[in-house]
Amino acid sequence: MVPPIPEDRLGRPLRKLRLSVTDRCNFRCRYCMPETEYSWLPRAALLEFEELRRIAAVFLRVGVSEIRLTGGEPLLRRDLPVLVRMLSGLEGLRDLAMTTNGARLPELAGELARAGLRRVTISLDSLDPERFRRITQKDVLPEVLEGVEAARRAGFAEVKLNCVVMRGINDDEIPDLLDFALEWGLEPRFIEYMDVGGATRWDGAEVFPKEEILARITKRFGPPRPLEGRGSAPAQRYRLPNGAVFGLIASTTAPFCRGCDRSRLSADGHWFHCLYAATGIDLRGLLRGGAEDGILEERIRGAWGERRDRGAEDRFGLADRRPLLDAAAMRAHPHLEMHKRGG
Ligand code: SAM
Ligand code: SF4
Ligand code: SF4
Repeated sequence: MVPPIPEDRLGRPLRKLRLSVTDRCNFRCRYCMPETEYSWLPRAALLEFEELRRIAAVFLRVGVSEIRLTGGEPLLRRDLPVLVRMLSGLEGLRDLAMTTNGARLPELAGELARAGLRRVTISLDSLDPERFRRITQKDVLPEVLEGVEAARRAGFAEVKLNCVVMRGINDDEIPDLLDFALEWGLEPRFIEYMDVGGATRWDGAEVFPKEEILARITKRFGPPRPLEGRGSAPAQRYRLPNGAVFGLIASTTAPFCRGCDRSRLSADGHWFHCLYAATGIDLRGLLRGGAEDGILEERIRGAWGERRDRGAEDRFGLADRRPLLDAAAMRAHPHLEMHKRGG
């Protein structure tokens, strides 16, 4: 008999896994990597493709059915289509997706789709080249737009856009970004600026909350109606009077931890139960120490059964909210960086 999908202490099943395939990134988004210097994982520490395939297969046996590749910037991992092909054929996998900054999609989108990648989410925070450069510290808006076009042509089952909204930085672009996405037939998702590990310059005053995002959208498109059936998804989806759909991820002002069925594996094989979790479990150590799949499976089931994380809700409850880590603390705890554990 197949053992049941493990549930954590709050009754949340383990269904989704985000696999960080690299901690490297070719952007320096001000909400994610605002510092000038970072420490990088040594190459030998990164999980090799065969290790990633094996760990993914164990998670699928435990009950995970959806895997998302992320990073850092996943398209910087050499031969990524080879990994996608290795993962896409695994038994029990219902969905294989990726979150990317899109700059390398013009060269890679077709190959990734042919290798079995089903869905892609592309980060796009501005349509203005100068503003895009200021946010990402990289002057490549045309390449990213080309990447969006390449993703549309590649035949993925779904292409979405992620936009982190920051007050005074890009909040005035919400309607234009929505228009752009709808014109291109893509679903946009607006994300509140979060005080995650990498966001060392986070400032509550720069958070542009859900209500204000909705107000901006209402002004241009009329009142959006929330869609039923959110399930465990981080985004609440809305339908506009014109029929178009968009998503809103309000993790800062309206966290949704009670439905969270996700966990993350860093590029060096540390398994984290929450975006904010201080510690993870070293699955690479177990793997390289010679543990059989059955041992890994047992460890994963046991650890998930003990999970109590509600990171964003805990942060919401703080009276005096500051960045999770300042630059010095981040250097002492590099695994807490968003780009290391996988956003
Ligand atoms: N490099 C890829 C990208 O940018 O799409 C994948 C990794 S990135 C860490 C994943 C997602 O996290 C992106 O959509 C990014 O916008 C989001 N993100 C990073 N820092 C954030 C923050 N402080 N608040 C909200 N979202 C953030
Ligand atoms: Fe930006 Fe993604 Fe790189 Fe972070 S990992 S700096 S969000 S492109
Ligand atoms: Fe899940 Fe942690 Fe995010 Fe809450 S903060 S939704 S528990 S990953």
